[in-house]
Amino acid sequence: MKIERMAVEGMNGERKDIDRMNIERIRADFPILNLQVSGKPLVYLDNAASSQMPQPVIDRIVRYQSQEHANIHRAVHHLSELATKEFEAARIKVQHFLKAKESREIIFTRGTTEAINLVMHGYGRAFIGKGDEIILSALEHHSNIVPWQMLAQEKGAVLRVIPMNDAGELLIDEFEALFNSKTKFLALSHVSNALGTVNPVKEMIAYAHHHGVPVLIDGAQAAPHLSLDVRDLDCDFYAFSGHKLCGPTGIGVLYGKAQLLEKMQPYQGGGDMILSVTFERTTYNVIPYKFEAGTPPIMAAIALGAAIDYLNGIGLSKIEAYEKELLDYATERVSALAGVRIIGTARKKAAVLSFEIKGVHPHDVGTILNEDGIAIRTGHHCAQPVMQRFKVPATARASFAFYNTKEEIDKLVDGIRKVQRMFI
Ligand code: PLP
Repeated sequence: MKIERMAVEGMNGERKDIDRMNIERIRADFPILNLQVSGKPLVYLDNAASSQMPQPVIDRIVRYQSQEHANIHRAVHHLSELATKEFEAARIKVQHFLKAKESREIIFTRGTTEAINLVMHGYGRAFIGKGDEIILSALEHHSNIVPWQMLAQEKGAVLRVIPMNDAGELLIDEFEALFNSKTKFLALSHVSNALGTVNPVKEMIAYAHHHGVPVLIDGAQAAPHLSLDVRDLDCDFYAFSGHKLCGPTGIGVLYGKAQLLEKMQPYQGGGDMILSVTFERTTYNVIPYKFEAGTPPIMAAIALGAAIDYLNGIGLSKIEAYEKELLDYATERVSALAGVRIIGTARKKAAVLSFEIKGVHPHDVGTILNEDGIAIRTGHHCAQPVMQRFKVPATARASFAFYNTKEEIDKLVDGIRKVQRMFI
């Protein structure tokens, strides 16, 4: 990937050199960005729901399906050995992407949701009991609420919720006050999908560990935008999804510290997760295989590895810097519009701009923008407690990726003005 160096004007007026990505070259890698929708060039601003796939990842899928496909771990023939090698190579790519210590700490799942459910079943059911407390935050996605609620109902455990302020930032004093001798688990998102808030997870993890409490981080919205280091964060579990990271659907990752994964119960039973089976007794396989029952999504895992290669080719720190520029620009332009309220104004945000237009239902906003080829998401974004906190039924959400441009944000702003002309 070609990166070009440009001199740009800094926010405070001074000139400074920064590395800038060659956006046109990058966009050319994404065939879908050439589409016309409603007769207009597609402006894809729904990346928090699912991002698009570059040609090298598409090519990797075609190569796998046309030259490498077989079931893994189970045969000595050429194709099976090749598919196994590529599948395990993808695991190592994920390990390096997260900077995990060992590849056996990387479990392939169907996505973030399944990764969190795996921890709820494998860790929660074994180590959380009656009267124990699980801490969540007010800005979680349903995927990081409902599994814990199910566990609490089953075990008689209690959910405690970290509140947030009107900007969408968690209240850290109140977070600290939630800990007591009954606290057994903290499940927290790294970045909020509805508000864009980046939580100070490293500090929060350290605080939880000070109380002996393990921590799961839902990284679905962080992995595509931030450079990650699970050892530096010191989280016990980290979950993310391939389809938000320019990879395919049907693949996700759970990172877990080896010593915790070793202690956990399997999530599902079946082939591959066993060492031996009799009708009396089963001996489980070692990690990570203990948690990968049945034929895994082989193609999707290999394609996720290719997506990671692609992102590394650009550089996560460059992606982070460029997306910050996009978000700052979008925030400035949208907040200048009369009658538009941005929901989620945290000091530290990533790639998400939620807003409401006074007097217009968000679904109407999405429908009108679609007429101009602009794809945003409207609704509760699987975060109904966030909507309740901000007293709105839904928001309109534009979410950015490194292949978006300021010109696309200008089109979004023109689209919002058009909606206002039509409805107000
Ligand atoms: N957590 C967050 C913060 C998300 O944004 C999402 C998806 O939008 C999920 C979890 C669930 O991800 P998936 O549907 O890929 O399992």
